[in-house]
Amino acid sequence: MSSFSFEVIKEIPGKLGRAGVISTPHGQIATPAFIPVGTKASVKSLAPEALSDLGAQAVLANAYHLYLQPGSETLDQAGGLGKFMNWDKPTFTDSGGFQVMSLGAGFKKVIDMSLGSLDSDVAMAESKERLAHVDDEGVTFKSHLDGSMHRFTPEISMQVQHQIGADIIFAFDELTTLHNTRKYQEQSLERTRLWAIRCLDEHKRLTHQRSDKPYQALFGVLQGAQYEDLRRKAAKDLSEMSSSGISFDGFGIGGALDKASLGQIVSWMSSELPRDKPRHLLGIGEPADLFAGVENGADTFDCVAPSREARTSAVYSENGRFNVSSATYKKDFSPIEKDCNCYTCSNFSRAYLNHLFRAKEMLASTLATIHNLEFTVRLVDRMRQAILDETFIDFKTEFLAKYQAKILD
Ligand SMILES: [Zn+2]
Repeated sequence: MSSFSFEVIKEIPGKLGRAGVISTPHGQIATPAFIPVGTKASVKSLAPEALSDLGAQAVLANAYHLYLQPGSETLDQAGGLGKFMNWDKPTFTDSGGFQVMSLGAGFKKVIDMSLGSLDSDVAMAESKERLAHVDDEGVTFKSHLDGSMHRFTPEISMQVQHQIGADIIFAFDELTTLHNTRKYQEQSLERTRLWAIRCLDEHKRLTHQRSDKPYQALFGVLQGAQYEDLRRKAAKDLSEMSSSGISFDGFGIGGALDKASLGQIVSWMSSELPRDKPRHLLGIGEPADLFAGVENGADTFDCVAPSREARTSAVYSENGRFNVSSATYKKDFSPIEKDCNCYTCSNFSRAYLNHLFRAKEMLASTLATIHNLEFTVRLVDRMRQAILDETFIDFKTEFLAKYQAKILD
């Protein structure tokens, strides 16, 4: 009855990384794979045909945004996320946990945050700006759209994600920051563990109640910040967890990650997780981080950075990122990247993009987004091929030596 599966087809010798295939009711995903983000059931500035042409195998939308607008019941009536947005390949939704807490609590860039300031639960908890309040039952938050009050619980997150109808959905978790105290991380991890059980129970009930709908796979979300024992415990707890006779179909690696130790954190968790279930690394998209994630056993990735940065005229190339609206490119009639086969590089010059950005033409965002997404999707596809060819480590060393993760000009 479950039409969801994952098969490992090749592993990186001596490492936890692997190439595989995820099968969903809407088709397969060859992994490792980068999944573009369509926050509100749209990858900003792209029609789904363009997304498909650039090589995207799936799309990830945000439950929080779709719950607030247009409302998850609208997507349910439309026949689910894929039908609503005319995307017939696999889809993901996140649980809403990240957004209710990051938008609600007013902290941003959680994934990028670095250690260094004081450990503090207070910075978050006492702020007058704070728009989200966490208790053992769930999270009460204020809409970033109109200030109205809402409440997410594990059960509500499951109901919303069932109505949205993506192939892969995530358990509702509490997001902490690297600034929370160790004691708070422990309490939060226990709360997330108890919420995971409630997600399994509600998911089972909804799957049964809505048995005419395509099967949705539920991934448990692993937290634990920068602590090895907590990360391993989270991975162990959720991989052994079973409730109402079901267990998780896969796992999401989430929460606060100190980027310098990203690979190590992923490896702690991968070594505790079952080999035959897929692992999604939430919110990661920089080349160096993608290599670290793939090498250490993550199978899929999502991140808004490639499309968000494209809209600010930051475009990717194998020699690093550069700002195509800078005066340097005003009369540069070469493509963004000479070896790129994307629609943008096949047909348009840097000079044309430079002009579109300066003239504030909408096409600027579309063309830059196509290139950045194809660059990122193809990079992870090349990692997959390198795993199959047994050249992953060479490919990584070569690529990263050339690539500089900074704006060149
Ligand atoms: Zn291109």
